Amino acid sequence: MNTEFFAAWIEEITSAVRAGRDHLTELDAAIGDADHGTNLDRGFTAVGEALAAAPPGTPGALLVLTGTTLIRKVGGASGPLYGTAFREMGKAFGEATEISPAELSAGVDAALAGVRRLGSAAEGDKTMVDALAPAAAALSRAVRDGLKPEEALEAAATAAAEGARATVPLQARKGRASYLGPRSVGHEDPGAASTALVFGALRAAASR
Ligand code: ADP
Ligand code: MG
Repeated sequence: MNTEFFAAWIEEITSAVRAGRDHLTELDAAIGDADHGTNLDRGFTAVGEALAAAPPGTPGALLVLTGTTLIRKVGGASGPLYGTAFREMGKAFGEATEISPAELSAGVDAALAGVRRLGSAAEGDKTMVDALAPAAAALSRAVRDGLKPEEALEAAATAAAEGARATVPLQARKGRASYLGPRSVGHEDPGAASTALVFGALRAAASR
């Protein structure tokens, strides 16, 4: 997977976030402050502009610029968390121009570690970690089992979507939704839902 592949991933995320903006915002209206969809839409629009203005030469540089732009443009909790995730993945890729499935898996692990370090959420706290952690685990298992790249990305996307759906019955223990206590139960976590879009976009980029 080369720089063009990762640029395609960001384009697929941008379209998915645009199409899902109102749904993400409705999820955030139920247990947060109704800005998650607009936050991410604004962020990825800015990422597109930043990548067009100074096209990066490596996957790592592209993801670091993506993360830096998200931190700069998206406020709230999710900007720094997503920004850190993309920056950590980019840093894990270093100067490489071609990323293997095993390196992609290591990059997603680094993204997860960055999100955990910054937000200190564990699985089950009803956050984006509930989609990101199973996606990272599925990808690493798929690579270890020698699955084809498309199958590995399919497994990661499915795990992220299932992880997001599994946040519905949970009570939030981190972020704004935790202020609601038991009233946060019964709603999908917006950040987990957007993380599922991010991994769906990765699968879409691979089948372009
Ligand atoms: P804000 O909550 O500041 O309005 P957003 O609405 O953009 O920010 O994002 C909310 C999402 O951020 C939540 O649905 C959750 O998935 C994620 N989130 C919040 N706090 C944390 C945390 N400490 N660790 C991981 N994810 C978190
Ligand atoms: Mg919000």
